[in-house]
Amino acid sequence: MSDYNWCHGPDCHKRETTTRVRGVKGSKVLRTVKINVSGMYPQGLWKYFCDQTCMHNFIHKHIEQFIALHPRPDALETPIEDPVKETHETPYGYSWTRTTIKAVDNA
Ligand SMILES: [Zn+2]
Repeated sequence: MSDYNWCHGPDCHKRETTTRVRGVKGSKVLRTVKINVSGMYPQGLWKYFCDQTCMHNFIHKHIEQFIALHPRPDALETPIEDPVKETHETPYGYSWTRTTIKAVDNA
């Protein structure tokens, strides 16, 4: 059995690629991409979008609805240990610093 989704990109059916051309000669159309979701892949959001362009077009069109569904009225915080800044040097005299930031383990 084969399950599929039509790509949710709002302009998927307007993108001029050979993979979207369907129909008989003299009556051709650009059709929304059909995504086969019957196997292990695609997973996650790739079950709904044929590529990143269609995904971004969808996000741009519907972002206000996403935000209304999942509001963020306050900032979130993750407790961390005091950051540790270390300077490293190669045998050739090149040096760099790295600051290690580690979340507090609350487990
Ligand atoms: Zn698409």
